[in-house]
Amino acid sequence: MTETRREAVYRFGLTGWPLEHSLSPQIHAAALQAAGLQGAYQLFPVPPLPEGAGKMRQVFDRLHSRELDGINVTIPHKQAVLGLLDGLTEAAAAIGAVNLIYRIGERILGDNSDAPALLLDLETRFGLESQSGVALVLGAGGAARAAVYILLQQGWQVSVAARRFEAAQQLVADLNRRMKGKRNDPTAIPLNSDSLARVPACDLLVNATSVGMPLQVGKSPWPPGLQFPAGACVYDMIYNPSETLLIKTARAAGHRTSNGLGMLVEQAALSFERWTGRAASRQAMHSAASLSLDTIG
Ligand code: NAP
Repeated sequence: MTETRREAVYRFGLTGWPLEHSLSPQIHAAALQAAGLQGAYQLFPVPPLPEGAGKMRQVFDRLHSRELDGINVTIPHKQAVLGLLDGLTEAAAAIGAVNLIYRIGERILGDNSDAPALLLDLETRFGLESQSGVALVLGAGGAARAAVYILLQQGWQVSVAARRFEAAQQLVADLNRRMKGKRNDPTAIPLNSDSLARVPACDLLVNATSVGMPLQVGKSPWPPGLQFPAGACVYDMIYNPSETLLIKTARAAGHRTSNGLGMLVEQAALSFERWTGRAASRQAMHSAASLSLDTIG
């Protein structure tokens, strides 16, 4: 490229499947505009591998040829892209999932901005600065891994509950093996009434399952009729719909709650800052996301 930095036109994007309802183009357009930068954020729908392997190669060719400055990765490719990268940050390697791809020189690298985004949003929404809280994370997919990783790193005591107990056990074993430094050992439990009823009081309950999303709307990962852990703030990573059944029932039971919109905006802001080296306007990004959600909803 012959452009000077001042005249640069940034090219970012998102790969995943399906992508029709993604808010990311609007969020990043708002960030570019607020920073006074030129650019575009495109969607690159790639079917699950191996069917989508050819399309995924094309996306990576664009990164290598500098046609793209960086991309985000979403379901179902957060793990599948690991083998296509030249390197991973320590967090992405420990979590085993990448949602942020960027370039340094000729190297295409992967990071996980979901993890710090969750932590920052928990602090914003609940003021959870405590270094020794107790958390229960529901789910054992990529988002749950990011949540458990960042909470353990901050000194939390974490239990992870999954409908396939073996998936929770695998998550715990992987993080125990990969995480360096001193921390509490996480615990795996099955996601059912009997196990959840035995969970003692906790400070934080995080839904990192997809239960409550459009395909499973009107459902909750928390068993009906079971009391929530006493005193828990309830964070649902889902942001569409903005009020899941989990959020409604937890709030009705007197718990503080939040959906995952702040996390979505924060991971986008961290991506934007990595790609451009410029501060992202969270306020502009949040307004754009809320407006798009109102339009969809
Ligand atoms: P994923 O890797 O596909 O994991 C989904 C998890 O949900 C798996 O553990 C899955 O269990 C579990 N699950 C699905 N249906 C279930 C059911 N009926 N009962 C119990 N568990 C069920 O997806 P992900 O990337 O981790 O994302 C999980 C959620 O977090 C999604 O809603 C996603 O939109 C949200 N998220 C939000 C943000 C944000 O910025 N706000 C960022 C990342 C993710 P099985 O393995 O048994 O199917």
